[in-house]
Amino acid sequence: MTVSETANGDPVKPTGIKVVVVGAGFGGLTAAIECHRQGHGVEIYESFPGDYHGRSLGDIISFGPNAGRIFRRWSDGDVAERLRPLSINLEHHGFKIHKWTGELVHTQLPHKYDPTAPVFNGHRGELHTIVFNYAKDELGIPIHLGQRVTEYFEDENQAGIVLESGQKWVVLTSLQITADLVVGADGVRSKARELVLGYYDKPKSSGYAVFRAWFSNKDMIRDPRTKHFCENGDTFNGWIGPDVHFLFSTVKNGQDCCWVLTHKDEADIEESWSFPGNLEDVYKVIEGWDPICKAIVEKTPSIVDWKLVYRDPLPRWVSDHGRIALLGDAAHPFLPTSAQGATQAMEDGVVLGVCLKRGGKANVPASVRAYQDIRYERVRAVQKTGETTRDMWHKADWDKVAKDPESIQLPREDWIFRFDAEKNAEERFGKLVEVN
Ligand SMILES: Cc1cc2nc3c(=O)[nH]c(=O)nc-3n(C[C@H](O)[C@H](O)[C@H](O)COP(=O)(O)OP(=O)(O)OC[C@H]3O[C@@H](n4cnc5c(N)ncnc54)[C@H](O)[C@@H]3O)c2cc1C
Repeated sequence: MTVSETANGDPVKPTGIKVVVVGAGFGGLTAAIECHRQGHGVEIYESFPGDYHGRSLGDIISFGPNAGRIFRRWSDGDVAERLRPLSINLEHHGFKIHKWTGELVHTQLPHKYDPTAPVFNGHRGELHTIVFNYAKDELGIPIHLGQRVTEYFEDENQAGIVLESGQKWVVLTSLQITADLVVGADGVRSKARELVLGYYDKPKSSGYAVFRAWFSNKDMIRDPRTKHFCENGDTFNGWIGPDVHFLFSTVKNGQDCCWVLTHKDEADIEESWSFPGNLEDVYKVIEGWDPICKAIVEKTPSIVDWKLVYRDPLPRWVSDHGRIALLGDAAHPFLPTSAQGATQAMEDGVVLGVCLKRGGKANVPASVRAYQDIRYERVRAVQKTGETTRDMWHKADWDKVAKDPESIQLPREDWIFRFDAEKNAEERFGKLVEVN
């Protein structure tokens, strides 16, 4: 493992704390990177096999300025520089918001670019590859792929995981790994959550699902009705209707296209992020809409239908002995309308790294409880914005919007965006834990 540096450039002092992270999504990777930055020894176990980047791994994902501030601290800004060309640049376009019938009601101007807290919106797989390679190749964090965790355990002094061999046709072998702390960053279907809660927490349907697609601009530029979206840099347009919204963006100088259509869905859900979708179902949802929406959808080679699950806030994220902590979607799934799911998972990782450093090896359980105390209320408040933004759009009063077009724009709240998770954790830790 390479020697890391603190924000002021000093080499970090090793704390002797050993952390095992389960899951190499943005939450798990950030937790590992931040643990490394703060001087802890860390390894990741991930169930996806070695061809991790061969998978398409989703489509558009958003990182707010409060995530940009975190990325910016990695490798002195280099990681943020690598993410930038893969992300939408709306400097010349803004977000054009339409009523479903086609009238443009408002253009929301983009944030002024802040190099200390940049915003990134791009393809999940492409952005993930940059962060994954930074953790693995530059920081030397061991990332064990193809390792499914089947069990978690703990006592007062340590926690551990049990791994399963991936080959189901041979006798299964299991391997136990122990550490001072195990972080369950294992996503919406978290296995770690069962141990922390002591019961299986069944997800509920949110009543909505999202059709999603990502494709090249090839057919879009052949059609005179749609080519302007791809020939003038990046664009971002939204059409809002009763209980439905359709967002369409072009990325990487108009080269790639992406749309998401959030719609009512009462079907029984199996918790996952994607199922194959059917274009005929999309046409039904946008029947009678601005014809440009169908012109875009027609160019789509394949779609997924992502059921939006909902979960009541968990009573706790930390196990009885304080040796297993939930983080990211495992602790708190977000609705996409908050555009903060991945960002809040990253903030979790930052706060955990700081708390462990401040508490030291002798105080791991107290530090992990402080992590929960520092994060819990903020996360719940940000989670709620997913519902408020969705309802503000889906129940829009168009007469009111005509008088006040800004009322329909995506909220940009300072308490979310200007937040510095690292600074906040450093300030609050001392009030929560007394370290001898
Ligand atoms: C394949 C995939 C595609 C996604 N696509 C999008 C998208 O297009 N847009 C979007 O906004 N969000 C998407 N998400 C969700 C988004 O990445 C998360 O909401 C957010 O980044 C928070 O990340 P997380 O690390 O908490 O969870 P996740 O990103 O879900 O990561 C959890 C990780 O844990 C691993 N894991 C789970 N169980 C085990 C186990 N038992 N043993 C070992 N490893 C395990 C999973 O393989 C996964 O890599 C996607 C998630 C995944 C896993």
